[in-house]
Amino acid sequence: DVEAEKKSGAPPFEVPEVRFTKLFINGCFVDAVSGRTFQTRDPRSGDVIASVAEGDREDVDLAVKAARDAFDHGEWPRMSGSVSFLNSIRDALAIAARVCRSNALQVGMGEKKIVSEMWQERGRIMTRFAELVERHADELAALESLDGGKLPAVTKAVDIGNAAGSLRYFAGAADKIHGETLKMRGQFQGCTLREPLGVAGLIIPWNFPTTMFTIKVAPALAAGCTVVVKPAEQTPLSALFLADLAKQAGIPDGVINVVPGFGPTAGAAIASHMDVDTVSFTGSTEVGRLIMEASARSNLKPVSLELGGKSPLIIFDDADLDMAVELAISANFFNKGEACVAASRVYVQESVYDRFEKKLAERMRSWVVGDPLNDPRADQGPQVDKAQYERVLSYIEHGKREGATLLTGGRPCGQKGYYIQPAVFTNVKEDMVIAKEEIFGPVMCLMKFKTVEEAIARANATRYGLGAGVVTRDMEVASRVVRSVRAGLVWVNCYFALSNDCPFGGRGMSGFGGDEGMQALDKYLAVKCVVAPLRGSPW
Ligand code: NAD
Repeated sequence: DVEAEKKSGAPPFEVPEVRFTKLFINGCFVDAVSGRTFQTRDPRSGDVIASVAEGDREDVDLAVKAARDAFDHGEWPRMSGSVSFLNSIRDALAIAARVCRSNALQVGMGEKKIVSEMWQERGRIMTRFAELVERHADELAALESLDGGKLPAVTKAVDIGNAAGSLRYFAGAADKIHGETLKMRGQFQGCTLREPLGVAGLIIPWNFPTTMFTIKVAPALAAGCTVVVKPAEQTPLSALFLADLAKQAGIPDGVINVVPGFGPTAGAAIASHMDVDTVSFTGSTEVGRLIMEASARSNLKPVSLELGGKSPLIIFDDADLDMAVELAISANFFNKGEACVAASRVYVQESVYDRFEKKLAERMRSWVVGDPLNDPRADQGPQVDKAQYERVLSYIEHGKREGATLLTGGRPCGQKGYYIQPAVFTNVKEDMVIAKEEIFGPVMCLMKFKTVEEAIARANATRYGLGAGVVTRDMEVASRVVRSVRAGLVWVNCYFALSNDCPFGGRGMSGFGGDEGMQALDKYLAVKCVVAPLRGSPW
């Protein structure tokens, strides 16, 4: 559908008005304590879009205080899924009084029904948040495109769809968080409670800002945590927009706080904060290391890290080569190569390598790099900012100097802005920098292999372990690769296929503690074991 819309010359998305540029703390948009701002730029031109309040340590302190108060005294953690829902006679009496006052009882529904509705309250509010995200999908998609150079039609379908999906998925989980009954020896009985961890610090990157916001915020909220989000300095606008939608949905003040700013200041303040109970980070391996160090030096908060990758795509000689070419292209150039799971190492079996290379070069001739908001034919927009654009171009130069051959692209294009013709390198050797380091841009390395064993060994010859793909008709071969490759996600005859129930995360230097899927809830929950004598039990 996205392809059809793109090629049909669908009307361009309107450039949205930027309505939110301040920090969002305790339910209000406020200036930074320092009064400082920073500029966010349109990568199509390098022009300034807006000045955004620049959060720093003092602002993070205020945001954490708001989140702490909302957690310790507010209603959010005490709604569905909360173990402290009925933790005292006083609470029980208060709930009973509420039940008696409620309309539902007057129209004849029982107390059980009321309690079960209250039980689902967190989920219901999150569902409203999801509905608002869907209702504002066009505006959000255009905002993301303006701030990050993304294709709005694709962003609407993929990023915004995934964001709303994530909120719905975890809304459904909010009333299903429970512990276990333990079979203890002797005259004791025990159980586990799963309690919200407290204040979660969520530090996110710029490549999928709306999705990154929601895949971290949704499980944290479902668990009953309160959050402080630090969006990337390159793309702060959508997080502020989402904060406003969250408020409209009824998420109480202080539960979601958003502090735009820079990594070494605002980000580092979250990572080292003594009153932040957990940090979930997505970004580079280098910064992931700093996050762990900051935790070790402060309060030993648990951290989860979604980091970089250098993922392999292995194409066997029995594959449908046209499909394999399409997969290699989207696995590398989707979102202008700014994807952590991009399959930047493509291994093609020797016997079909030449045919594959020829088909790939032909197909790339019709690839359009263009203005995402005004050119409906565009397959690829500009890189997110000048620094990233220069970084990618310098890797391309490095590849040429190392002796790799450019099959296509690899040059800057456009009169202004940060556009790059996607590069396909051939004659790549494993020890070249372009084959080893994450480039995070539209650069594909094409390599040959002979046997399954060799392909697996070379796929695993990296310290990363995020994504991997295998293209073959032989399911025995596919199964060998799936079981042997060291990665958090493996795609067979597809790439990038994901949904909200797919755990997304890596191994090795790609991090640990994934987002999405039910397992993501565990990052925001603590297990408490409770033991009592069988007689005189507190239950
Ligand atoms: P980055 O690590 O520079 O920045 C990510 C976030 O961390 C930003 O919000 C930034 O401001 C913040 N940050 C920077 N320095 C910090 C510090 N000292 N303390 C605390 N926070 C700090 O990464 P990037 O360049 O924005 O994003 C690209 C990287 O993210 C790539 O390596 C990519 O693979 C990775 N990424 C991974 C995933 C995944 O799910 N595994 C998804 C998207 C991006």
